[in-house]
Amino acid sequence: MNNLFGDSMTEVEKKIEELRANLKYHSNKYYNDDAPEIEDYEYDMMMRQLKELEEKYPEYDAVDSPTKKVGGKADNSFESVVHNVRMGSLQDAFSEDEIRDFDKRVADMVNERHYVVEPKIDGLSVSLEYRNGVFVRGSTRGDGDVGEDVSGNLRVIRNVPLKLNEPVPFIEVRGEVYMPKKSFDRVVDRQLINDEKPFKNPRNAAAGSLRQKDSSVTAGRGLDIFIFNIQQIEGKTITSHKQSLDYLKKLGFNTVPFYKRVDDIESALEEIERIGEARGTLEFDIDGAVIKVDEFSNREILGSTAKYPRWAVAFKYPPEEKQTKLIDIEIAVGRTGVLTPTAVLESVHLAGTTVSRATLHNQDFINEKGIAVGDIVTVRKAGDIIPEVLCVNKHNSDGVYTFPTRCPSCNEKVIRENGEAAVRCINPECPAQLLRNLIHFCSRDAMDIEGLGPAIIETFVDKGLIKNTYDIYNLDYGKIATLDGFKETSANNIKKSVEKSKANDLSKLIFALGIRHIGAKAGKLLSDHFKTIDKIMSASVEEILEIDGYGQIMAESVVSYFKSCSARELIEKLRASGVNMNSISEVKDERFSGMTFVLTGTLPTLKRSEASEIIESFGGKTSSSVSKKTTYVLAGEEAGSKLDKANALGIEIIDEETFMGMIK
Ligand code: NAD
Repeated sequence: MNNLFGDSMTEVEKKIEELRANLKYHSNKYYNDDAPEIEDYEYDMMMRQLKELEEKYPEYDAVDSPTKKVGGKADNSFESVVHNVRMGSLQDAFSEDEIRDFDKRVADMVNERHYVVEPKIDGLSVSLEYRNGVFVRGSTRGDGDVGEDVSGNLRVIRNVPLKLNEPVPFIEVRGEVYMPKKSFDRVVDRQLINDEKPFKNPRNAAAGSLRQKDSSVTAGRGLDIFIFNIQQIEGKTITSHKQSLDYLKKLGFNTVPFYKRVDDIESALEEIERIGEARGTLEFDIDGAVIKVDEFSNREILGSTAKYPRWAVAFKYPPEEKQTKLIDIEIAVGRTGVLTPTAVLESVHLAGTTVSRATLHNQDFINEKGIAVGDIVTVRKAGDIIPEVLCVNKHNSDGVYTFPTRCPSCNEKVIRENGEAAVRCINPECPAQLLRNLIHFCSRDAMDIEGLGPAIIETFVDKGLIKNTYDIYNLDYGKIATLDGFKETSANNIKKSVEKSKANDLSKLIFALGIRHIGAKAGKLLSDHFKTIDKIMSASVEEILEIDGYGQIMAESVVSYFKSCSARELIEKLRASGVNMNSISEVKDERFSGMTFVLTGTLPTLKRSEASEIIESFGGKTSSSVSKKTTYVLAGEEAGSKLDKANALGIEIIDEETFMGMIK
């Protein structure tokens, strides 16, 4: 192998190049695609190896090495924000000794010191800016110098205050947007129901959800935020980190939880251990604990490197691995008929929780690892990621587990389509699929039948009250009232919600049908476009492709669904029961159809959300960035760089008065 200058490369140089290439690849997957392929721990170890080699062989140092870079790059589909205060990374430590070394480095430069220990939230870093106590802008970290303006998406996060408790002239704070475990489970369930690729972990889910073009998608993801730093402040003097966290709380921010100020490094280590023990019980993921020098005067003396401050260190809890026995493999049948294998394990304590199950993904994964029932396997749980079987340590037999050829639920033959990893049961009457279909049908975004939750549906299926989806509209309420745990009132309440659902908009019914690749939004587009179920049922792929937002796979999926006799029978039965089959969404007037508005600055009377609602109700669209496709920029006071861009592109700029005139 030759280097850039044509000289043959030494082994060390080759290793360095290889590590840099690998790190760049995985960093792009993680930061820009939100789809990591390796564990954080593996990534950290590669980074550490590279750092050590670069220190030992400074002749191979490079300015663009991953050891000198922070995060990913700002995506140009959002407006760029140049950070006034650089959003750096943190140096890491993997052992107590490394934490003590950090303390020695600090002690070499400052005398008296205290530390604050906080959990290290596993999400993505953002900056929030407030003027006179009002939220004006929020951005991602990006590469530390330039991030993305994601203000619109931050506004819809529950704990991002739009107004502070005090009108501080200016404050910029830094925090971590994260996805609580509960939200993550809900989002992944929905993704699985819609046959979408599920997020790997809450961190990636948070990053993917915050960088959405449509704020309503972000709003539905249940994100939250913890604030852990003041980046800049005017009109108030603060001298320590602890003081700043207390003040942030007073302003109304959701500060990083259970932070503690300690007197020395040994007490800091105790805190790290305490946080580590609590890890499995928290409602959110953490990937470590951060130790920060408390006094700002000390921080100034310590300064920063190009990548991180010298006054803080992140202790990373290593992923735990343990050996255990694989006692069984269970196969579950999903709503779309996919068979998924789960390893049942002899319980082990891992990363703060008891693990007794691990995903085995599919037959290919099982073959690759050579897994069979009775094997001794190594399980790993990094953070709160679903436990996985890492390898087999001791085989019980020569064989490898093979999937059943018949569905464990209905005993019909299963199939594996060419090129697909998944094995499917395609029997439309399969009871396992029926149950999941029913749960989906009644869920909130679908027909929204209050009172018909998973447990009750299961009871009704068991008791033979529901044998097919349309039976929901022919329930025997007299019989329900006699079931264990039910009374006449509860039966009546269910009846009321079932009756109410008959009047739902067609879009809800389309989503409820559970057509592959058709989520709630796609259901709405279809219903808004065709207006009646009959038109949808007779539409061709080409006709469906006319809808902005529909691709070939989605269009084909709709056509193939309505071709099936069982789908047609279901629609006819639902129609006969009185379920609405028409679009009732009110588009008052389409005067903004085909137009795209960009909103910027503060409007005199309208909130931005109100202006967006008006635009959409007249058939128009809003976008967060100005481009050639923008029709109007609706600008208010303190409009920023969007105005310059609009001027440069010759796009018409209107004020609120003109806008109100347009909708009169
Ligand atoms: P980092 O995540 O280790 O540390 C810096 C970040 O910690 C800051 O951006 C900050 O937002 C966050 N943080 C959370 N709680 C905090 C608190 N209480 N105080 C201060 N900061 C807090 O460093 P990094 O450079 O941002 O990212 C590296 C991380 O990303 C590593 O954990 C690495 O494993 C992971 N990564 C993984 C892959 C992969 O393929 N698996 C690829 C790239 C990066």
